Amino acid sequence: MNLLRYRTLIKSCSSLVKMSRRFCSTIDYEAKPIFLDNQATTPIDPRVFDEMVPHMTRDFGNPHSTAHIYGTKQMKVCDKARERVADCISTCPSNIIFLSGATEANNTAIKGVSRALKSSRNEIITFETEHKCVLESFYDLEKEGMKIKILPVEPTGLINLDLLKEAISDKTLLVTAMAVNNEIGVIHSLKEIGALCKEHGAYFHTDAAQGIGKARINVTDMNIDMLSLTGHKFYGPKGIGALYISQELQGKLKPLMSGGGQEKGIRSGTLTPFLLSGLGKACQLATSEFDRDKEWVSSLQSYFFKTLSDKVEGIHLNGDPDHRYQGNLNIAIEGVYSSRLISDCTQVAMSSGAACLNDDLLDECDLGAPSYVLSALQIPKTLALSSVRFSFGRFTTKEEVEAALGYLQKSIIKLRNQ
Ligand SMILES: *Cc1c(COP(=O)(O)O)cnc(C)c1O
Repeated sequence: MNLLRYRTLIKSCSSLVKMSRRFCSTIDYEAKPIFLDNQATTPIDPRVFDEMVPHMTRDFGNPHSTAHIYGTKQMKVCDKARERVADCISTCPSNIIFLSGATEANNTAIKGVSRALKSSRNEIITFETEHKCVLESFYDLEKEGMKIKILPVEPTGLINLDLLKEAISDKTLLVTAMAVNNEIGVIHSLKEIGALCKEHGAYFHTDAAQGIGKARINVTDMNIDMLSLTGHKFYGPKGIGALYISQELQGKLKPLMSGGGQEKGIRSGTLTPFLLSGLGKACQLATSEFDRDKEWVSSLQSYFFKTLSDKVEGIHLNGDPDHRYQGNLNIAIEGVYSSRLISDCTQVAMSSGAACLNDDLLDECDLGAPSYVLSALQIPKTLALSSVRFSFGRFTTKEEVEAALGYLQKSIIKLRNQ
């Protein structure tokens, strides 16, 4: 997989999508920085795009208007997507609800179960390194009277199962743990967490926004009751995602919104066939390209890490070296603040994982605040502020990695000498 292949694929788009091809060929890849930020979002796979286009133009029916072919045809598109999403996590289509993405899926799952079932059990558990939308949902529920437990993680970023064993009880309604961490790439042992939840009669939710295509997930084997996913993290479109809800939990969740009762009353609103066809195709590719993607990003990552470590001293890997998604590389670069590196090395699109908050503790406000994920790993503040995330993807090329290494080396040396 490389840029050449991307272009060849775009060229091979069917004649139906001439318009889209013209659009694609106007994208000027060379003019932009090298994209090493595939965990923030991914480019749309041209095979996904190809599948979406007819439903943006020619086939515009409302899938819920089943009195005529405009609608029935589009409902078939939604059904096909539901099958493909279900296949990719080894479940059946009737357990899949469509919504706008992982933020909404996480809110729907966590708040939906808590608000519906808090009279039976009133405690929910998660971890410090979860995505903000999980943590914020917990704080919202705390205000509504739920008891929340946000557990620390190991310095490797992995979940400490002993701590979870201590925390979980017959009062625990829900445990939520992400599949793959978005900042440091560690893969959590969902199967063991799932087993522990089952033992204590607690529901288990996983935020698999970074899990699809990056870790093998089987909701039955792993005893997962709810799973969130989102198209734009695995070469699908933005603004579309899905929530898996186990048979046992069906009909029990309290929805966030009132409306026409689509998606079994969990998520009212008209389905979006063009987004769904893209999500479905992206799910199918996440499975069929799994091994190839894994091998490709692993080779890029290890080459990048080795070469950079050889060229400049003081590079440290954040997060567990073994239990990880290999397309992620979060490193601390001694003596170089990430905010400085990002503004100096503009030829490379990377991420610091730290939103620039107004942290009173810092005199130099432009350094930003250290990432809460890295802080949870007890990484010293200076090193956390010197950490950057590179993430490689299906369409990253060896040439891009090579060029990025050159730019980064130059910047690091320059900034260290200032
Ligand atoms: C991107 C991401 C989200 C949010 O997904 P959206 O679809 O953009 O709302 C949630 N959790 C994790 C781990 C993510 O990486």
